[in-house]
Amino acid sequence: MVELKIIFLGTSAATPTKSRGLSSIAIIRDGELLIFDAGEGTQHAIAVAKLGLNRETKIFITHMHGDHCVGLLGIIQSMSMAGRVKPLDVYGPEPLGGFLRESAKYLRFGVNFPLRVHQVHEGVIHETRDYKILVAQGEHSTPNFSYVLEEKKRRGVFNPAKALKYGVPTGELWSRLQSGESVKVKNRSVKPSQVLGAERSGRKIGISGDTRPTPKLEKFFSKCTLLIFDSTYSERHQYLAKERLHSTAKEAAKIAKSSRSNLLILTHFSSRYSEVNSLEAEARQIHPNTIAAYDMMRLIVPYPDQGEAKFLDISGEQANR
Ligand SMILES: [Zn+2]
Repeated sequence: MVELKIIFLGTSAATPTKSRGLSSIAIIRDGELLIFDAGEGTQHAIAVAKLGLNRETKIFITHMHGDHCVGLLGIIQSMSMAGRVKPLDVYGPEPLGGFLRESAKYLRFGVNFPLRVHQVHEGVIHETRDYKILVAQGEHSTPNFSYVLEEKKRRGVFNPAKALKYGVPTGELWSRLQSGESVKVKNRSVKPSQVLGAERSGRKIGISGDTRPTPKLEKFFSKCTLLIFDSTYSERHQYLAKERLHSTAKEAAKIAKSSRSNLLILTHFSSRYSEVNSLEAEARQIHPNTIAAYDMMRLIVPYPDQGEAKFLDISGEQANR
């Protein structure tokens, strides 16, 4: 079982507030740090969350608006000063490479580790043995790429009774079957498929960036274990969401419902709202399993067959949610 933890590093839209920094979401999966967006101040949030600058890290940028990408400069400089040697992979829209190159030139900072910039496109942009990162374009005032982290299927549950039935003695041979290897018992081969149940789904995490809800995204986010969606505005400012190509909390809930996603987390709140309980309430009318994010909110996302997300450090009012 691999732990997947999410930390909201910044949950404000456009301008930071006293309690909310600019957009950034961290996923820690099996020790690897995956950061989605890096608004100004993200490196401070990384320090507060004690995420470290020297670990295996990838950064994904949804779009080239300052409140989503300017923080990259500070992160890269601090990583250099921290003596990072591991490569850093940064993914984003086409202008990202030029933005980093020109900034490094004007600010005269050197990068002491391999910095690899990848231009994203729709489809699979990164794949490991365990998971894939997929991209689909949203609808915003500049090209916005939404991301999905999708884990591959996991092996089925081991059935001890079946193993005994096939004459496999307990111990090492059981572990080998559980890890997907065939074993030999009295010159007969026993395959993992004979003793393991059906393959089980992994987790699917969707991150919208800034966008209107669209039919394409509804399909892209199909059955997310956790969907994190642009919720810049409340219902009464829906005209602004349309005009500025963002979403309301209620629209986020509609897409969570129609995509049959499980948990919805609202984020990227306009700084005009001093509290977001009303946005959360609007969304819950459509999709009850909804939480409004706050900075440093941390949660552990379980596999789809292992119950509901576990929120860490929730106290007071939040504990009653
Ligand atoms: Zn934007």
